[in-house]
Amino acid sequence: MVRLARPRPGHFDLGTGYHGDLWLDLDALFLRPSRLRPHVRWLGERLREHAVDAVCGPLEGGAFLAYAVADLLGVVFLAGYRSPGEATGYHLPAVHGGIGGWRVAVVDDAVNAGTAVAACLEELRGRGAVPVAVAALMALGEASAMVPARLGVPFYPASTVPSRAWPAGRCPLCAHGIPYTDPVPPPEGGPTA
Ligand SMILES: [Zn+2]
Repeated sequence: MVRLARPRPGHFDLGTGYHGDLWLDLDALFLRPSRLRPHVRWLGERLREHAVDAVCGPLEGGAFLAYAVADLLGVVFLAGYRSPGEATGYHLPAVHGGIGGWRVAVVDDAVNAGTAVAACLEELRGRGAVPVAVAALMALGEASAMVPARLGVPFYPASTVPSRAWPAGRCPLCAHGIPYTDPVPPPEGGPTA
């Protein structure tokens, strides 16, 4: 499944205040939803055990998955919208009657530094909901250990991908003067990573 995202090694600005050594084409990942169906089912089975009332996913990719998982489980879907003007903030839509006390799982496509997932958990707790689990198609680098340790909820990655990420100011690739890699994949028929 990781291959669906056409992983490319190099030096990338991940756009979340972090630099990393791996680029995933997450648009390619969502190109054919039927290919993701077995993975959506896997995520759903993990979250079913937590008796969730809702599944929340940050836009863009996480929300696509959360919508599919919520459909599978017959529970509420909550989109995490980026808060304008904030690099990492997310907000939830208004729900009639509120979501206080709801058991909510957060789903994302790829979890690297975990900024989007952490922001969604914070927003859910701020609205009185109880985050009970995080699930993702892919955990990059240290995420498998970092999410449960730092965010205080169990984490279910369907796959793990070795990679490293650093806060932009402490990026060793920048320190060594390594130029950014173009994340655009080579043309069809060219060499692939
Ligand atoms: Zn860098």
